[in-house]
Formats: sequence, structure tokens, C-alpha cells
Amino acid sequence: MINIQTVKLPQSTGKIDLLKSTSSQREDLIRIPAANAGVDAFAKDLTPKLKNLKCEDHPTKTSVLKLVADKKDLVKVDKTGFCCKKFADSIKVTIKK
Ligand SMILES: [Zn+2]
Repeated sequence: MINIQTVKLPQSTGKIDLLKSTSSQREDLIRIPAANAGVDAFAKDLTPKLKNLKCEDHPTKTSVLKLVADKKDLVKVDKTGFCCKKFADSIKVTIKK
């Protein structure tokens, strides 16, 4: 089986001064919540599709698919938690933007 984990970006809690902020700080204001929301949306969408899949070679192992919030790409897929490369390669996750 495959568990889905989400890794979110820390959201700044303090208010930033828009006049003094850098453009990257202002971008973060938009991109971080968007990336975090994207990760949640993908997790919700993928969970029912992946939950019944299992590795032929390691049917008792649980693999972990991580959805990582990313400022640039919104959502990145991390398959390092899979039991083996063969199974990881057999799972195709397409991130639509
Ligand atoms: Zn395997």
C-alpha cells in the first residue's frame, strides 16, 4: 500500500511591511499558501487512486509518497519512501498546473 504524506512550507506569521519588503517576500505571501493548498488538493485527489496499489515484490511493505510544497513548482513528488525503485517507477504522478 501507499501512504501519502504532505510536507508543507512554513508560512510566515508576522506581517511584512509591503513597502520595505523585497519582491521575493511578496511573492512568498502568494506562493506559500498556494503551494500548501496545492499539496492538500493533490493528497486528496491521489489517496483514493493509490491506496489499493501494492508492490508485487514487497506486498506487505508500506511505501510513502511525499507531496512536497515548493515555492517554484508548487508541488513536488518525492518517491524516496518507496520499497524499491521498480515500484516507484511504476507509479506515475503527473502534477497539472
Ligand atoms: Zn517493492
